[in-house]
Amino acid sequence: MRRKLAAGNWKMHGLRADLAELATLDNADVDVLVCLPATLIAAARDLPVSIGGQDCHSATHGAHTGDISAPMLADAGATYVLTGHSERRSDHGETDADVAAKTQAAHAAGLTAIICIGETLAIRAAGTTLDIIDGQLAASIPDSATDDNTIIAYEPVWAIGTGKVPSTDQIAEVHAHIRARLAERFADGADFGILYGGSVKAGNAAEIFAVPHVTGALVGGASLKAADFGPIVAALAAS
Ligand code: PEP
Repeated sequence: MRRKLAAGNWKMHGLRADLAELATLDNADVDVLVCLPATLIAAARDLPVSIGGQDCHSATHGAHTGDISAPMLADAGATYVLTGHSERRSDHGETDADVAAKTQAAHAAGLTAIICIGETLAIRAAGTTLDIIDGQLAASIPDSATDDNTIIAYEPVWAIGTGKVPSTDQIAEVHAHIRARLAERFADGADFGILYGGSVKAGNAAEIFAVPHVTGALVGGASLKAADFGPIVAALAAS
């Protein structure tokens, strides 16, 4: 079983001076990761937290202006990468097949991929959340996935950056479903990390971390400042 993971996602925020926020976040009991803009990865490589990218191309190199490959992220000092974040899926039209190809590229480069999945509010209202989750799991996770190189992040799209959070029963239902699907497909499916993401704050972290099969969090807005992210890391360590 992987160690618990508190993962931050700075999205398109941060300049080099902001890396000072990461200096005191390491914790003996849980892993702490921050997925940075690509411009900051090399500058952050010696800080006492793990560093990740926020996306990678499925190819190792080539004529893809503006893109970044998994070996480039690894070379800069990243050990993780997010794949399939909902903002990549919506802003860049990334499909489940794209996400699987990017994840496979991450594995080939020695990176741990955090594959993001989750339903929209319309899907939640239609009562088909678990069907959508099934489709995303089946098509976004490549066969190269193991508990060592892959983590799943359940992030309801309607909870990202909105301040809205599912009930703990809703989180529990989806996490148990993800765990069951992983165990059906992978010999080590019981050991994959499964994060919750979507408006995690210091004030709600402890109750989310108490939900079965939640092994950590993917945190956007509240990961930018140590004063906000530190208490979330501490809540995970205490869970
Ligand atoms: C995210 O970016 O993955 C995220 C969960 O953002 P926030 O915590 O701001 O909702």
